[in-house]
Amino acid sequence: MDEIDCAVIGAGVVGLAVARALALQGRDVIVLEAEGAIGTGTSSRNSEVIHAGIYYPQGSLKAQLCVEGRQALYAYAAERGVPHRRCGKLIVATSTAQVAELEAIVGKARANGVDDLVLLTRAQAQAMEPQLECLAALHSPSTGIVDSHALMLAYQGDLEHAGGVLALKSPVMQAACTAQGTVLTTDDGTQLRCTSVVNAAGLSAPALARRITGLPASAVPEAYFAKGSYFTLGGRAPFTRLIYPVPEAAGLGVHLTLDLGGQAKFGPDVQWVASPDDLVVDPSRGDGFYAEVRKYWPALPDGALIPGYAGIRPKISGPGEAARDFAIEGPAAHGVPGLVNLFGIESPGLTSSLAIGRRVAALLGPR
Ligand SMILES: Cc1cc2nc3c(=O)[nH]c(=O)nc-3n(C[C@H](O)[C@H](O)[C@H](O)COP(=O)(O)OP(=O)(O)OC[C@H]3O[C@@H](n4cnc5c(N)ncnc54)[C@H](O)[C@@H]3O)c2cc1C
Repeated sequence: MDEIDCAVIGAGVVGLAVARALALQGRDVIVLEAEGAIGTGTSSRNSEVIHAGIYYPQGSLKAQLCVEGRQALYAYAAERGVPHRRCGKLIVATSTAQVAELEAIVGKARANGVDDLVLLTRAQAQAMEPQLECLAALHSPSTGIVDSHALMLAYQGDLEHAGGVLALKSPVMQAACTAQGTVLTTDDGTQLRCTSVVNAAGLSAPALARRITGLPASAVPEAYFAKGSYFTLGGRAPFTRLIYPVPEAAGLGVHLTLDLGGQAKFGPDVQWVASPDDLVVDPSRGDGFYAEVRKYWPALPDGALIPGYAGIRPKISGPGEAARDFAIEGPAAHGVPGLVNLFGIESPGLTSSLAIGRRVAALLGPR
């Protein structure tokens, strides 16, 4: 049987960031990825937004790792030439009740260490974005966008430069915890004994964890899948910043994001689905977008929204339940030496990736 120091399962943005961090602290690392390329999962089906860290509960991992990860990501992207833009975002209130909520958002952000939000009057917001309709707005100057694929390639480059290896088309089917380490079995029957294993399988992480013998069943959460569909705007983007409504209970509301090419898209909405493979965009879901978007952009033309793509949030709480925090579960949580499971790494996972990498590397330590 082959032996390796560390195996990371999954080559999404989080798995690659974790593998990079482990390799940089001197561990021998292999990344085992089921597909034939990196980042074909949720990491290439998201908004590519570098979140400031505004809305998450104070003290949560999402709040801490988003703020830490965002700062690290801007520095890393600048140093490594990863395309990104600190374009800023406006959170817009379109009803009197929402104007009061803007104040609460400022307080929440401050508690998370985000102290650069600026409250704007309608006139000030419209001076920044002339096509915008609102009663008041908040400007978040530290929100931005990043080319997630270029970011993943940079992580892969660092990993390989530090001696790590990426194995594509290598789905891990099962694992067994033994006194000599964790034994992974891939689909062709290859077995690999590892001192440390990181389960970064995204949407499949809970299902994979259930196939690890020796890991208590109570240490594996139920997986839920919340699909988010995007609709692309045909024609020129009306705004230069990201535009978000005041968040609602189920998500961040139908917002406008931009990619680095200037293409505008609206979404993602929230649709609970049974399967992590349910990625087709239902064109009829766009019907509900028009009224929502016209609250802040009345000039949205009829028929301008074109079905785009969908991503699925790897949830560990179900419909109607309170959103759960990132779960980064090492030996102290489940009792298996050398094993870390990453569950529920939904947004802001991309923003937080470098910080999650550091956190997991600290949990597993140097060689
Ligand atoms: C709609 C949507 C919008 C989002 N927008 C943002 C945003 O704007 N900003 C932000 O910060 N975050 C955002 N996120 C969150 C972010 O995209 C995720 O947190 C991040 O991509 C998760 O990366 P990952 O590596 O954990 O998972 P994934 O990218 O899903 O990677 C998991 C990998 O594991 C592989 N795998 C699975 N099972 C196995 C196995 N058994 N063996 C080997 N390999 C396996 C898969 O093939 C896949 O490549 C968004 C998410 C969604 C769904």
